[in-house]
Amino acid sequence: MILSQVFDSLNIGIIILDRDLKVEKWNRWMEAQSGIEEKQIAGTSIFEAFPDLNTPKFNRSCKSVLSFGNFCFFSQKLHKYLFPFKSKGYFETNFDFMQQSCAMGPLRDENNEVKFIFIYVHDVTEVASYEKKLKEMTMKDGLTGVYNRRYLETRMKEEYERHVRYDSPLSLVMLDIDHFKNVNDTYGHQCGDYILKAVAAGVGQSIRNVDCLARYGGEEFCCLLPETGIEAATMVAERFRKVIMDQEHTYDGNVIKVTISLGVAEVVEGINSAKILQKEADALLYQAKRQGRNKVVAMNQG
Ligand code: GH3
Ligand code: MG
Ligand code: MG
Repeated sequence: MILSQVFDSLNIGIIILDRDLKVEKWNRWMEAQSGIEEKQIAGTSIFEAFPDLNTPKFNRSCKSVLSFGNFCFFSQKLHKYLFPFKSKGYFETNFDFMQQSCAMGPLRDENNEVKFIFIYVHDVTEVASYEKKLKEMTMKDGLTGVYNRRYLETRMKEEYERHVRYDSPLSLVMLDIDHFKNVNDTYGHQCGDYILKAVAAGVGQSIRNVDCLARYGGEEFCCLLPETGIEAATMVAERFRKVIMDQEHTYDGNVIKVTISLGVAEVVEGINSAKILQKEADALLYQAKRQGRNKVVAMNQG
């Protein structure tokens, strides 16, 4: 009776299962989160209400508790959650479901036999959300929301190594906004920032998940294209050029248009590192500028 009150006042979920994985105890926290009362769920298999729990891993863990009296842990980092509870009341957590850190262990009778399994469920959504945001902040550019230079450099190295191992094609598009200084000088730095964001969004909308768009410097961006040869990469760059050329930016009642120049390089013989690939793309971008801007210059093919 007293124990039961303790169970119900805890700010974590407590479940006790019998050897057939039927619910023996379901504390108030579990009732509140699941919307299932203890009297409804008691005596039924846990898999009836939570069929997704019926995984080999969960069953193996239960077996190891029942057979050997082991403890098992389900960390949020690996499992996200055991019980799919809709994330409610969390402000900007970016998770649809409550993130949980769970553990299970044995409850023994007076003969030291494992009679029950206990599971506790700890809501770690808030901490997980901070971690996620912090991680994003180290990877993303604060103004435009695309990846930052540091992340790009890590990804370039990884993708270059993958290219070496599997001989998969790898290309890089480097782009720079034309005469951007004029935009700042004419309409102000805030307008410049506004356009920078729109350019990043414009380019970003048409790339694949595996591609990596990053802000390389001031008004210069890089787009790393794994599994892409020079021909396809040039078409991608051409698409970027057209998208940006067609954008109209309305700021403070002014309609402003900008263009971009682009250099496109692929890892071929003689390009022995991610750094050299970048240098090559940069040199081609410079050529595009010299050839009059609003232009794509790609590495000679074959
Ligand atoms: P080019 O066609 O040769 O690239 O000419 P440009 O004017 O774009 O090049 P330049 O390198 O002379 O000037 C780059 C400008 O980009 C200058 C700088 O004020 C602006 N810029 C760089 N970063 C930011 C930023 O974060 N916000 C804003 N608003 N402007 C930026
Ligand atoms: Mg520029
Ligand atoms: Mg520049």
